[in-house]
Amino acid sequence: MGYHINTKCVQAGYEPKNGESRVIPIVQSTTFKYDSAATLGKLFDLEESGFFYTRLANPTLSAVADKIAALEGGVGAMLTASGQSASMLSITNICHAGDHVVCASAIYGGTFNLFNKSLRELGIEFTFVTPDAAEDEINAAFRDNTRAVFVESVSNPSLDVADIELYAKLAHAHGVPLIVDNTFPTPVNFRPFEWGADIVVHSTSKYMDGHAVALGGVIVDSGNFDWTNGKYPAFTEPDESYHGVVYTEKFGKAAYITKALTHLMRDYGPQQSPQNAFLLNLGLETLFLRMERHCSNALAVAKFLEQNDKIEWVNYPGLESNKYYERAKKYMPDGSCGVISFGVKGGREKAMQFMDSLDMIKLVIHVADARTCALHPASTTHRQLTDKQLEDCGVKPNLIRMSVGIEYVDDIIADIKQALAKI
Ligand SMILES: *Cc1c(COP(=O)(O)O)cnc(C)c1O
Repeated sequence: MGYHINTKCVQAGYEPKNGESRVIPIVQSTTFKYDSAATLGKLFDLEESGFFYTRLANPTLSAVADKIAALEGGVGAMLTASGQSASMLSITNICHAGDHVVCASAIYGGTFNLFNKSLRELGIEFTFVTPDAAEDEINAAFRDNTRAVFVESVSNPSLDVADIELYAKLAHAHGVPLIVDNTFPTPVNFRPFEWGADIVVHSTSKYMDGHAVALGGVIVDSGNFDWTNGKYPAFTEPDESYHGVVYTEKFGKAAYITKALTHLMRDYGPQQSPQNAFLLNLGLETLFLRMERHCSNALAVAKFLEQNDKIEWVNYPGLESNKYYERAKKYMPDGSCGVISFGVKGGREKAMQFMDSLDMIKLVIHVADARTCALHPASTTHRQLTDKQLEDCGVKPNLIRMSVGIEYVDDIIADIKQALAKI
């Protein structure tokens, strides 16, 4: 579909036939009916495509996944129950015990724990590289058993903007794919495949849903990575659990995403519910409009804070003072996201006083929905991390993360002003 991304947000993924519902229907059924055992057998053997059990596929989920694949410019996508399960499956689809992953250290705290604890316990090793790591430092992190590189395009909460072209170049030089968590900019502001990334993951619980109503995740496959380079036998050797199917032979460009669905989703089962996918689609329909407003509001709030003498520092890639300003302009000329962070003068204590003085802006453990909210990561989302790990993630003790919503911007700034006046 050659439409502009705004049009794709509204229209892609679902084409109703004569007399069918105009809106993507919620197919709230775990199971699907067939006339013959032979047809059902073909579905089980992946010889025909169709729906038979919602853990593997469901019309609501497929339509919404297809929309997101269209937004990112990929060959296919798979919805998951959460962003966490998307990140987990994106790695375990290609990495097994004994394999190794190069990962940017500036990532979401939940992803860091998933990798550094749970996946390590499964035998997958990780080397974390700092956001500003130079080319030779990133290069030195690769090993013979490296099978993937994982970065966030704009990191949560530190707002580091990754040099995706560089990571893609290095990953490909070592014969491994680049996986990008693109949750914060969304495909409206940044499409990693256009810069060489191979796989994209999202927590759709954030801007894509946009209303803080439905937990979810998605994996998108660019179709560009060559899995036949000898490092990925799971793609090139017969899968006995499907009567010897060879993914690269049978599914070509869609080998990665088909294996994720037919193998990992079948076995692990973190499927998104049709109800959540329906809600996610409502969010996607307005994603373009909302991202524009999130970004313009966030820039106005960041500029206001930068001028205020009770504020020690402001971090937002859209500010000219930001170390990522030029990089963000290159990769995301229309803006990055609605999340900003800043430090209140007077350290942790004043930061918490400021939080308690906010009125319209609520304190919640969430970002990226329509309502402006704020959080103090060091005492909440990142409290499991040591000071050294905090530092590596770019989280200062007085850091306040504010997710700027889509309200009228003067009202947001007025609330911040009155809270600052109280500290
Ligand atoms: C929230 C988030 C996740 C985890 O997603 P859930 O939907 O909460 O499981 C992963 N990556 C990023 C960048 C996030 O912001």
